[in-house]
Amino acid sequence: MHRQLLKYAVAFAALCVAIPAWAGMLVVDMLDVGQGDSLLIRTADKTVLIDAGIKKAQVASQLRRLGVDHLDLVVATHPHADHIGGMTEVLNAFDIDLYLDSGLPHTTQTYLTLMQAIEAKGITYRTANVGLQLKLGDEATLTVLHPGENHLIGTRSDLNSNSVVLRLDHEDVSFLFTGDAEDPTEQTLIRSNIQHIDVLKVAHHGSGHSTSDAFIRATTPTYALVSCAADNRYGHPAPATMKRLRQAGTQIYRTDLSGHIRVLSDGDTAELLEGTLGQIAGMVDPFNALAPVAPTPTSAPVALAEPLTKKQPRQQKNAARKATREARR
Ligand SMILES: [Zn+2]
Repeated sequence: MHRQLLKYAVAFAALCVAIPAWAGMLVVDMLDVGQGDSLLIRTADKTVLIDAGIKKAQVASQLRRLGVDHLDLVVATHPHADHIGGMTEVLNAFDIDLYLDSGLPHTTQTYLTLMQAIEAKGITYRTANVGLQLKLGDEATLTVLHPGENHLIGTRSDLNSNSVVLRLDHEDVSFLFTGDAEDPTEQTLIRSNIQHIDVLKVAHHGSGHSTSDAFIRATTPTYALVSCAADNRYGHPAPATMKRLRQAGTQIYRTDLSGHIRVLSDGDTAELLEGTLGQIAGMVDPFNALAPVAPTPTSAPVALAEPLTKKQPRQQKNAARKATREARR
């Protein structure tokens, strides 16, 4: 793990020389929150939080360590405690422009306290509906894929089945955030002709009620991210679900095994990092003012033969990066 981190730190430093402004980069962090979910999406323009874990102050504290001071959008996929347990603390700790949820209420005190906090802080609230799109800068778009106009009812868990499902497109790199969606949700997504996804946030902590063979065939995920606690009492992730993903050739990353997981996208390729929050937060980070700055090169920055552009083919881009790295050795 250390060697991998070092490798990426070197790559980061080289990238800093090549693209000083980190223009066009996108970072997705899956926070290590034990048996719950919390994901942070950042571009140069926008910061988005999806879910806030189970423990009260945990996510707000991790966001501070990642240098977050404002959230443009907060999404609660559904009102179970392992997704909104730390949400009220997040709302109290940061300025928030917009709050989205599935529109399905819950009866718990955690949910009621959260609704009171939204009202008390005057946060703009909207129900997420299929088709709603939010631009995260010029290169990235977040699209609501679920729920539709009518909620799914009479399922094993209507709160889970109506989880807000979000697709994130960063040029050629795609992400799917599924909350605790279950089989009925997946069938709806398949009917809506969902296609290949590069990075899948595995639904419901890898439970056996989600991530069916049909859904894997439809989305052919390259990477799968699972958030769960080690030795949790639910048996997440289900071995059969992990087997289905492995058999499809998907690379699986799990917070119970890896800790904090980071996906870096340049709009062309996605790269994965894993480690403790301290290791990840301490890395060169384009969007974290608290992270160490990129090392200053001892010689003049290497000029690339041709500037990197968003439409540059992958091979050229990789060759340019390799040349930059080698020139700095
Ligand atoms: Zn959950």
